[in-house]
Amino acid sequence: MVSDDDHDDDIEVPSRHSRTRGCPDWCVQCMHEPVRDGAFWHRGPATTISVYGGTTRPIPLTIRAGYMDKLPKDWGTEPADLEKPYVTMDVPDEGRMFTLTPAAAYEVAAALISAADAANAAHRAATQAA
Ligand SMILES: [Zn+2]
Repeated sequence: MVSDDDHDDDIEVPSRHSRTRGCPDWCVQCMHEPVRDGAFWHRGPATTISVYGGTTRPIPLTIRAGYMDKLPKDWGTEPADLEKPYVTMDVPDEGRMFTLTPAAAYEVAAALISAADAANAAHRAATQAA
């Protein structure tokens, strides 16, 4: 076994939080780039909902907030929307993950509520007519 004090400077150590680079309040799962002063990937609590994926088989859909805290030298390497906190919708069984800006997530949420209201009303009408 090698003690922690013996490592040489070439060994990459995980990035650590500092006073100026903490976690957002909602971060529950933090992944640290395994280099000194590297990026952090903050992930919020996951909500998983059972949906149908084009088959009759229920599959999980997971929604959570995320934020990649990159170093200034890496800014501008992705669309600007992805360099701010975002929302992910992950459907691992379909191999799909969508990344939404908060604004797009609100739009999706409003559209889902509207569509759910319409579907519920149609269901009520159909079951009352029978
Ligand atoms: Zn974090």
